[in-house]
Amino acid sequence: MSFLCPSFTSVFSQIAGESYLNLIVDATDISPEEEYDYIVVGGGTAGCPLAATLSSNYSVLLLERGGLPRDHPDVLSEEKILVNLYEANDRDSPAQRFTSEDGIPNFRGRILGGSSMINVGIYSRADGNFYARTGIKWDMGAVKKAYEWVEESIVFGTDNLTTWESSVRDALLESNIGPDNGFTLDHVVGAKVTGATFDETGRRHGAVELLNKANPENLRVIVNATVEKLNFSSSASSGALGSPQLLLLSGVGPRPHLASLNIPVILDQPFIGQFMYDPPRSTINLVTPFPISGIGSHAVGISRDGFSINDFSGATPFYSPVSEIFFPDPSPPINLSVATIAAKLTRTQSSGSLQLASATNISVNPSVRFNYFSNPEDLSRCSNMIRYLANMISTPSMEAYKFQGLKGEKSFLFVGTSLAENESDSGTLEVFCRKTLRTIYHYHGGCTVGKVVDGDLKAIGIKALRIVDGSTFPTSPGTNPQATLMMLGRYIGLKIKEERSA
Ligand SMILES: Cc1cc2nc3c(=O)[nH]c(=O)nc-3n(C[C@H](O)[C@H](O)[C@H](O)COP(=O)(O)OP(=O)(O)OC[C@H]3O[C@@H](n4cnc5c(N)ncnc54)[C@H](O)[C@@H]3O)c2cc1C
Repeated sequence: MSFLCPSFTSVFSQIAGESYLNLIVDATDISPEEEYDYIVVGGGTAGCPLAATLSSNYSVLLLERGGLPRDHPDVLSEEKILVNLYEANDRDSPAQRFTSEDGIPNFRGRILGGSSMINVGIYSRADGNFYARTGIKWDMGAVKKAYEWVEESIVFGTDNLTTWESSVRDALLESNIGPDNGFTLDHVVGAKVTGATFDETGRRHGAVELLNKANPENLRVIVNATVEKLNFSSSASSGALGSPQLLLLSGVGPRPHLASLNIPVILDQPFIGQFMYDPPRSTINLVTPFPISGIGSHAVGISRDGFSINDFSGATPFYSPVSEIFFPDPSPPINLSVATIAAKLTRTQSSGSLQLASATNISVNPSVRFNYFSNPEDLSRCSNMIRYLANMISTPSMEAYKFQGLKGEKSFLFVGTSLAENESDSGTLEVFCRKTLRTIYHYHGGCTVGKVVDGDLKAIGIKALRIVDGSTFPTSPGTNPQATLMMLGRYIGLKIKEERSA
């Protein structure tokens, strides 16, 4: 295994929830002869709980290409969710930007804790369909315990919905997305208040804190350590882009693709990088007639016919390029509140593929195409989903968000594409789907179960490699995936221990 030399990370101060800092070591403190029972590549959403769980019985080395959350404090703040994304750079930011070949901008995590440290924090367990369709061998009793292990320390409910969250929840119920399920972590049809990895003060508690549960005698963590090739006796937990990329660079993948890049073929595996899915999102954004305070995304609506609706609220920074012409100098800051309702297809039938964009440099994002709406069923389901959104904005709870015109008429002020209340024309709804197409960042696949890994997530045709992350999912968890990925890391860690003790 080769990895780039990480910078030294000194550990002097710790705040609550950061005892994992004691596990961080400098690469130069580890001798090349040092042996570990397990090496986990990628300290992300699934990798952290996997490493922590294995460490209770075995020696484990966890290698993460990104840095420590405390060196990027914005990732710990709910208020800075969007700032982390705006500030993504090509080198070392916790969020790494990529644009799929479909032209849709996207992000992936590059920090200890992975994408769970740059996401919106919504926490919701997978739906029943996921367990039936993934092909992973599930023991549902163990699944429940694995979720509980995650939830006892880093998942929070809320008693205080923001004004916008309450309005969205009410609008869901008024437009017949019911019943009202109150607060629940389960993915259930109707309206619900969901959990989050942000606490009441807005501090994030991502997968990185699951390392606090590790056995400190057995776990070593190196940050800023980019693995460039696998030696195949490890666990790849590098995410839906990172794991297929790492395997391809290591010579495992479709022979024609590897040969075209002069990469020596270790195993001709035609399915690496295939079956890449990204559930599409459509969004309406409303400028609100009064400032709305509080960031939050707790109100969720789940329909019977395969989509979910989330709110997001916050103040969006607004810069006017003509400020010096029309406004006094210095012009006062303009602080607009924009409230968002995002709807996503819980699953997509359309899929695409991933290929290397560089045969030598792992820091270069691979090229990925998701082929949104290439399956016509997705477009028709999307148009149905937007019909629900159109119904939602015609409910009494949304009236307060309209502006009043000179003649007393009331209407919404949309940012971007507008949607007519109660719009029902399928053609118009499909156009809306295409025009507003964005990602909800729940992409998965590339090393899917049944094609690249078996039901225990062991790589098919490679002796001592497991892949444990979102790249293995041939279907989405139906809901926001971080809960399922954290559960998966814990679940597979326990399974490995069980197998070894049998
Ligand atoms: C902007 C955004 C918002 C989201 N919002 C939500 C939400 O609100 N709720 C939700 O449930 N889900 C959300 N998601 C999705 C969710 O966060 C991801 O699906 C999930 O975190 C992926 O987990 P993973 O373990 O597969 O990969 P990751 O968590 O991305 O972990 C992969 C890790 O591997 C590391 N790595 C990659 N390559 C290498 C290498 N060569 N060497 C060493 N390390 C490597 C990466 O740096 C990363 O830390 C969001 C995602 C994004 C990007």
